[in-house]
Amino acid sequence: MDSNKTEEKTEHIFYGLPASPGVVHGPVFRFLHNDVEVLKYQVEESDHDSEIERFHEALKITRNQIQEIREDVARNLSEKEASIFDAHLLVLEDNALIDDVEKEIKESGENVEQCVDRVTRKYMDFFNKLEDEYLRERSSDLNDISKRLLRNLVGETAAGTAFLDEPKILISEDLSPSDTASLDRSKLLGIATDSGGMTSHAVIMARASGVPAVVGLGGIAENIQVGDYLLLDGFDGVAIINPKESTLFRYGKVKIRRKKINELLNEELTLPAQTKDHQAITFLANADSVNEVEIGIQNGCDGIGLFRTESLFLRKNQIPSEDEQYQEYRQIVEAAKGRFVTIRTLDIGGDKKLKGVTDGNEQNPFMGFRAIRYCLRHPEIFLDQLRAILRASAHGPVRVMFPMISGVNEVIRAKELLSTAKKQLEEKEINFDQDILVGCMIETPAAVMISDLLAEEVDFLSVGTNDLVQYLLAVDRVNNEIAYLYEPHHPAVVRCLKKIFATGKEMGIPVTVCGEIAGDPHYLPLLLGLGADCISASSPLLAELKFFGRRFSMSEVSKLIDEVTVSKNPLEIKQRLNSFYEERVSDLI
Ligand code: PEP
Ligand code: MG
Repeated sequence: MDSNKTEEKTEHIFYGLPASPGVVHGPVFRFLHNDVEVLKYQVEESDHDSEIERFHEALKITRNQIQEIREDVARNLSEKEASIFDAHLLVLEDNALIDDVEKEIKESGENVEQCVDRVTRKYMDFFNKLEDEYLRERSSDLNDISKRLLRNLVGETAAGTAFLDEPKILISEDLSPSDTASLDRSKLLGIATDSGGMTSHAVIMARASGVPAVVGLGGIAENIQVGDYLLLDGFDGVAIINPKESTLFRYGKVKIRRKKINELLNEELTLPAQTKDHQAITFLANADSVNEVEIGIQNGCDGIGLFRTESLFLRKNQIPSEDEQYQEYRQIVEAAKGRFVTIRTLDIGGDKKLKGVTDGNEQNPFMGFRAIRYCLRHPEIFLDQLRAILRASAHGPVRVMFPMISGVNEVIRAKELLSTAKKQLEEKEINFDQDILVGCMIETPAAVMISDLLAEEVDFLSVGTNDLVQYLLAVDRVNNEIAYLYEPHHPAVVRCLKKIFATGKEMGIPVTVCGEIAGDPHYLPLLLGLGADCISASSPLLAELKFFGRRFSMSEVSKLIDEVTVSKNPLEIKQRLNSFYEERVSDLI
């Protein structure tokens, strides 16, 4: 830990929701969505040179970014289109502009952001007043350049993350799934946001990649300055700006402890996944990339219970072709090495907005044009995806799963389209698994009530508790203001789960739980005791689940279930689940 950089600054503590476990300490990276907010402050004369250095560093980063964009455009469009960026590069090398900014820093004694903003505005005004149309257009080049320069000085944008030179903790007011999908996760130390709920998709992605995250920190983004360091505690939901030596020391001990715990968990990875009284537990992994499938396999999963296909769409920020999808799904199937992969069809909409596709002005996007509703309205897009999934099924066991179902007709129509996709492939003599298994998610209260009717149509069910809890309790899953009401341990949820598992048993089909509660060990006895057949959780969480599963017996669970199912009080249920967990692992974990 590099504590030198933090010793002169004041420690500032923020409390939020612990969204993804882990403790990290590192430099921050302010993620900006919109226009740059230009701070203004005085700089000591002795620091003028370092302000000028910051300016040159930002010029260098900006030049590299534009060069990269230029190459990209030349590759994907044409040299002619790419040459537009030559004008941008010329602005960045313009000595008159560079000299003016340096002079402004020395004369005004203000920070470099202010000076860049002032000087570029002055140039823009000048160009705007000119008669010559060509020269007037230089004003918009300057505008682009100045914004990019300022972003590189004040913080970074999604595009800028590719240019991070060292791993950093991302700070943002809010983070959408498409923001998260476009981040280079290898350079992401942690995530801290002002808003967001525990099951928002950005958080799920962080958890799946093992990146510590704290959300709902209210006000952290505006309190962060470039050059600050942050200590992020994803276990307890704490973020500390510029931590003191003593704080770092305390957390250093937590990190050592955590390392020991991980060693302990890893020691049991090769042991059977079963309870103390030998009831086997089927653990599956949730994944949205090849890498996460591989981590799931390392952590001993029996298959992939949920592959979220929308992540490919969000990463590309557009609808991928059938072939692009096929390549990705095939890689996933191959990475699973003979274990089955459950590929969920596109679940776009809600907070997963795709530019030009589901970014319309919906009043209630989570209850709007989402997932299966979108796919059934756009059969051409759905068929592309279904063919890609079927083609991947020629390379290993695949199951297809439909999300956000609220009526039987949706499943019937989706299956009809699956048959059409099969026929289209047959006509072209392309291989696929004729007997591919079909399942649907139970994420709406309507689906719970008609789970028997849905079960008649499918081979398996999978409970998406992230959405089910939000729809059942009418609590927005991404709103941290009402996060206290988002209670997966609410008696209404317990009753729904009990009903769904019972339906599965009656109808003779397996039921998986793939919402985030499946990855929280406190819920494991509850889910098994109520009758879940498979537990599908983010890959990095499987080791701890298995460890805990080996420390209780089903007869103990059955007593727990007797208590929990008669309780009227969510808090009481939560306390009961917590104490069941702590009594068995507190000395170890
Ligand atoms: C769920 O809703 O629980 C689920 C697994 O789907 P998602 O989180 O992608 O909405
Ligand atoms: Mg869902």
